[in-house]
Amino acid sequence: MIPYFPWPYPDEVLGSLLVRACRHTGLPFTQIIYQLAGYTDRAYVSFLLPQFLAELSRETGLPPLTLLWDHTVFPYVVSFRPPAQVRRLERLLLSGQAHVSSTTRLVTKALPFRRCCPACIVEDMARFGESYWHRTHLLPGVHVCPLHKSPLIVTGISTRRGDGQEASHWIYELPQEVVGERAAQPLSAEYLLALAQRSCELLERERSSRPGWASAYRRTAKAKGYAAPRRQVSSLVLAQDLHAFYGANLLEEVHCSYMPQDPRSWPILMVRAQPGIPFSPVKHAFLQTFLDNCPSGPKPDSPLFPGRRPKDFSDGDERCAQQVKQAACAIEGWVTVQELLTQVGCWEVYRHRRQRFPKTAAVVAEFKASGRWRGRLSRVANLGACPRQD
Ligand SMILES: [Zn+2]
Repeated sequence: MIPYFPWPYPDEVLGSLLVRACRHTGLPFTQIIYQLAGYTDRAYVSFLLPQFLAELSRETGLPPLTLLWDHTVFPYVVSFRPPAQVRRLERLLLSGQAHVSSTTRLVTKALPFRRCCPACIVEDMARFGESYWHRTHLLPGVHVCPLHKSPLIVTGISTRRGDGQEASHWIYELPQEVVGERAAQPLSAEYLLALAQRSCELLERERSSRPGWASAYRRTAKAKGYAAPRRQVSSLVLAQDLHAFYGANLLEEVHCSYMPQDPRSWPILMVRAQPGIPFSPVKHAFLQTFLDNCPSGPKPDSPLFPGRRPKDFSDGDERCAQQVKQAACAIEGWVTVQELLTQVGCWEVYRHRRQRFPKTAAVVAEFKASGRWRGRLSRVANLGACPRQD
């Protein structure tokens, strides 16, 4: 055990706790990691990640699950996953079997630099004598402090690796020492606050694994005026309005870009009667905030996209295999084989005539064998030579 180790402050991310441990003990980062974990390979350490949970539990006396749920972005990442998958991933992370970069990639790719709130810094300094990095400021699309309702400062400290500066965990600064700029406000203050509050709600543990979200979105969309004939949602108009609401820059920032005319854009897929595939929490927060705040009233008609019909793959095992591979690269987070093949539209035909799809079966086997596949959970981006799709 390390003779002295700080306790995490409310909503402090574990990377911030490690930074303060270095500062309080005077030990360099490698020494802290060595004493925690018995090795010094800093490539395995990052800022937002659920990592060293057992070791940090030993040092702080806090249960590992408390550290995971209260001091990492884990609850945000799994906020729309089925409870069984959440429990399974929880166990894998606690036992060190799951790779944390898979867990937090959704957040770090949409958050290029750390952010902090000037008012929180003042309050933290007065209360604790130092400031720290708050989890709620480090969620995608959050540009205002949900507590103080004021714009956040964007620091020059990257949340990613390999972009020309030292890895983020090597930056020992705390928010009170960092010079940054107020974030450009890509949206009105009212809507930015709504987006921040929606995003932070996803950190609440008791609200994780939200079932029935698809029907709730359809209900709200229809109530707002996006109702179409045959009990459908006027989803193309909705997607175009959502694009105009946020603007291309903000959507690009959180890696949720799409063309307003695209009949397969993610807002259209999310309001289908049976979406069939998981969507990132970023997209949920953006769609929810839009539906909460868009004006009510009749909307113009749009072509209907009632959902993807099963395709005829009888002539194309190869085509099916290629599409499955492409879909595996494009989907975010964890998916099951069923979800992956449903996304492509070949699940039904594949599951009943598996022997006619040897190449697709090979891609599925590769998918299962890739990375840290465990039962029904897998990280699809580990599939071979996937083209980069953001
Ligand atoms: Zn604040």
